[in-house]
Amino acid sequence: MQHSRGRVLAKPVTAQLSLPPFRASAMDGYAIQAGMHDQILNVTGESLAGHPFQGDIGPGECVRIFTGALVPANADQIILQEEVAEREGMQVRFNAHSPSESYIRPVGNDLKVGSQIADQGDVLNPFLMGSLASAGVNLVEVFRRPVIGVFSSGDELRDPGVEVKDLLEGQIYDSNRLTVKQLLATMPVEVRDLGRLADEADVVSEALRNGARICDAMITSGGVSVGDADYISETIEKLGTLAFWRLNLKPGKPMAFGKIENCWIFGLPGNPVSTIVTALLLVRPALATLAGTVAEPPLRIKAKLTAPLQHQPGRTEYQRGTFTQRNGEFEVGHTGDQGSNRLSTFHNANCLIEVNKAIGNLQSGDWVNILPLTDLTK
Ligand code: AMP
Ligand code: MG
Repeated sequence: MQHSRGRVLAKPVTAQLSLPPFRASAMDGYAIQAGMHDQILNVTGESLAGHPFQGDIGPGECVRIFTGALVPANADQIILQEEVAEREGMQVRFNAHSPSESYIRPVGNDLKVGSQIADQGDVLNPFLMGSLASAGVNLVEVFRRPVIGVFSSGDELRDPGVEVKDLLEGQIYDSNRLTVKQLLATMPVEVRDLGRLADEADVVSEALRNGARICDAMITSGGVSVGDADYISETIEKLGTLAFWRLNLKPGKPMAFGKIENCWIFGLPGNPVSTIVTALLLVRPALATLAGTVAEPPLRIKAKLTAPLQHQPGRTEYQRGTFTQRNGEFEVGHTGDQGSNRLSTFHNANCLIEVNKAIGNLQSGDWVNILPLTDLTK
């Protein structure tokens, strides 16, 4: 279990014991029998957490007890130590008023043996891992992590790390492969970096055919538009099935999706913002499902625009924005010119602003839906 963080349960899990497994004291005090709180009682023993008092309480007796300790079988009540009026040697007398609670946690108060504590598809997070440990579950069955191959494509690209002075004219750094890998890093998948594809039909074809044999899904970026050097969608069609190509989405319109043999393939657009937005909104939820989790729709919060926002009706758009909370309301502003090449629109962004395809320009003070990036990347 120690190494299962982030993995997906393949089966429901049930509690191996009740919690607490024995009647336990909820407070530090004295265990007594019902109705004895106004008597002078003899303290006949102690029950500490992990060191239970063996035996019963006799008439006129009580047992000193501490939080988490086993309550003697015939005790009905814990009197808080704050209620002690007088203690002399082994004798104790409490304040006279009637106790308001028993301060005894019954067996199974938190969890009943055999009850289901987690379901198939649940992701092992710190809370669930703690619950499983407390319930005596130390070994769990999890799904295999699907293998996800990540490519980039384009003859203009150079690896990050190449010195700036060594970039030839017309070359840029390959940022998409790194970003996509990082966007998958927190998911229950095994990411394989499959390198960069040259803008040549045969190279693309060979690489996708080979990748499909070892991956459950592949992600490419670039080469999916209608340019002369764009081979991704035609290669998917040639080697397998192209399920769709082009979406009514901004950014992200040229996206392609299909299957080659048993391997899903996401052909993401090359413009870095388009790559990220499609990876967040489409690839991550799809891969979460492939990994066996139950993907929820992203969190949407209503926020008020702090500045006008330009939008042409036609495609639903996801602009980068920065939201803050003010006087109990959320406010959001976009991060400047929203060109899909402008990775800088993600600087200081903490959400996507969703603008429905049906509407046009928005004014300051208009309400929009925002999708926090913390949720989209969790
Ligand atoms: P494409 O769809 O291949 O025409 O790419 C669209 C734009 O995105 C071009 O300006 C490319 O240079 C750029 N681009 C493609 N792939 C990447 C990448 N991996 N990293 C950074 N920019 C890229
Ligand atoms: Mg290209």
